[in-house]
Amino acid sequence: DMAGGTTLVAAGIVKHFQGVVALDGVDIALEPGRVTGLFGPNGSGKTTLVNCLSGVLTPTKGTIGLGGTRIENLARERRARLGLVRTYQNLRLFPALSVAENVETGLFAADPALGGKARRQLIDEALDLQGLRPHAHKAVSTLPYGLQKRTEIARALISHPRVLLLDEPAAGLGAGDWQSLVESLKVARQQMGFAMLLIDHNVAFVTALADTLTVLANGRVILSGEPQHVLANSEVARIYLGD
Ligand code: ADP
Repeated sequence: DMAGGTTLVAAGIVKHFQGVVALDGVDIALEPGRVTGLFGPNGSGKTTLVNCLSGVLTPTKGTIGLGGTRIENLARERRARLGLVRTYQNLRLFPALSVAENVETGLFAADPALGGKARRQLIDEALDLQGLRPHAHKAVSTLPYGLQKRTEIARALISHPRVLLLDEPAAGLGAGDWQSLVESLKVARQQMGFAMLLIDHNVAFVTALADTLTVLANGRVILSGEPQHVLANSEVARIYLGD
């Protein structure tokens, strides 16, 4: 690995929308088994960054490497096949399909020759990682929001991603739900060793998982480092922690 253990390296990412500079030279590196939490006020560029990394958007400038392969010009499906998997702020499930069927749709990256038994094992593993086995055969539309969210995360986990990008996974979850999501993501990370980028407004949720916190403002990284260090910054505390 040319990047020395780093899974995803984005350098100098710029994104313009007509006159708007959404990202203004962002550098970010995600490492195997480590979680980076991304904070920033509304409009600071968080979603645009995830969109540029995942291939929803093409950066105006900058490079993105995934395990040494340049990916900034690849379509999102190709990035996903290379192990870069994301979820979206809003659920993107098939409401009429069962939980297990929805989770199975995340297997795009798998070998097409994957046999029925191996497929079922992967489905069961992903269901178990999100505590969904008891709901496997229920239509997703009949489940409460928290379990729908878990279904979406299980769908992302089934392909054994190298990099997992989660855009506001805890939004709309009550305290019990986000706390158990923290525990399940810790287990998944430990089992699978993926690098994770986490965007969420829930500071307690992000801090419970993150090894590194990165703060964006006006399309630039203004601070990045150990959570305790970043949270102790007076500007960050003022903006995010209500001090
Ligand atoms: P965040 O996720 O941190 O709230 P965004 O990435 O959504 O921030 O937005 C960053 C900036 O880019 C904002 O000024 C926003 O208005 C602008 N922006 C985002 N998407 C578009 C778009 N498709 N067209 C024009 N401007 C956009």
